[in-house]
Amino acid sequence: MADDCLFCKIIRREIPAKVAYEDDQVFAFYDIEPAAPVHVLFVPKKHVDSIQSVSEKDGVLSMLADRAVKTAEKLAIDQTGYRLLVNYGPDAGQTVHHLHIHLLGGGKLSHL
Ligand code: 5GP
Ligand code: ZN
Repeated sequence: MADDCLFCKIIRREIPAKVAYEDDQVFAFYDIEPAAPVHVLFVPKKHVDSIQSVSEKDGVLSMLADRAVKTAEKLAIDQTGYRLLVNYGPDAGQTVHHLHIHLLGGGKLSHL
C-alpha cells in the first residue's frame, strides 16, 4: 500500500468507487470517466507501480486477466466482445501509477 496512491486509497475505501469485483488479492471498480459502456479497472491490492515493475513469477498479470475475463462473463459482455488494455508511460497516457488492466466492452470499440 502506498499512502498517496489514488488506487490504494480506493482499495482502502478512502475514496469511493463502484466495486465490480473483489477478492483477497484483486480489486476491480468502474472507471470514473468511462471510455466504453462497460469500463472496469482491475488492480492488485498490493501496490505495483506499472507493468514495467512486474516479473513473470509474480503472476500478477495473469491473475488480473483471469479476474477480468470472469467479470466480462458475469457482465455478459463476453457475448459481444471486449478489450483488455494496459497503458504504460507518457506516450500511452498512463495517468495513475498503480498497475491496472482496463476492461472495455458493452458496445462497439474503435479499432486500434
Ligand atoms: P490510465 O490512463 O492510467 O491507464 O488509467 C487511469 C484510469 O483511472 C482512467 O481511465 C481514469 O478515468 C481512471 N480514474 C482516475 N481517477 C479515478 C477515480 O478517482 N475513480 C475512478 N473510479 N477512476 C478513476
Ligand atoms: Zn497504489
